[in-house]
Amino acid sequence: MTLDESLKNTLKTIPENVTLVAVSKTRTSDEILEMYQAGQRDFGENKVQELMRKQEILPTDIRWHQIGHLQKNKVKQIIPFSYLIHSVDSEKLLQTIEKEAAKNNRNVSVLLQIKIAQEETKYGLSFEGALNILREKKSGKFSHITIEGLMGMASFTDDLKQIKEEFCSLYHFYTQHQKDFNLTILSMGMSDDYPIAIECGSTMVRIGTKLFGKRDYAV
Ligand SMILES: *Cc1c(COP(=O)(O)O)cnc(C)c1O
Repeated sequence: MTLDESLKNTLKTIPENVTLVAVSKTRTSDEILEMYQAGQRDFGENKVQELMRKQEILPTDIRWHQIGHLQKNKVKQIIPFSYLIHSVDSEKLLQTIEKEAAKNNRNVSVLLQIKIAQEETKYGLSFEGALNILREKKSGKFSHITIEGLMGMASFTDDLKQIKEEFCSLYHFYTQHQKDFNLTILSMGMSDDYPIAIECGSTMVRIGTKLFGKRDYAV
């Protein structure tokens, strides 16, 4: 199957009001270009080095999403062109983004990543921690940042009921606070679990494997 067909097939399974982010980590620039020529504009990467290398040579109207854990010392590099940072998982990171955004005289869009999975290894804020940040933002802090919404990753498990509970808990929190903080994006769902995420109210899915095929190595 060509990437063009793969994109069309995947888009058929996603409602129109849900944005598809094509997760292009480990993929070559040629593969990204092929997907771009098929009409895709939103691409997600999780390593700053790789993102820098690709954005330099690929079309400038690509919307680059930073989806993986972001180290504070890498923020500076991506601020000039980042479209949306999905993975703000600490207040310290947000402070660094604010500082660099101010230096670049730009407003940077971010999502707060919330830990909904039961696994120990997943990054993310607690609901309470996210709420604190949203309140600080509302009181005037972080003036070079727009908090567009929330992101979450479900546990890596075959237990569909658990996955659904995790996604739905995030949706519940999102709808509770959506109006108050003007949230418009709920990023949840990957190749294996995005239909459940959409069922639970996701507005943005991050899909790699289903679009591009299996990755050669784990990341
Ligand atoms: C790799 C990755 C994805 C995509 O995973 P697939 O299973 O290949 O669809 C989505 N979100 C994040 C944060 C990722 O790191």
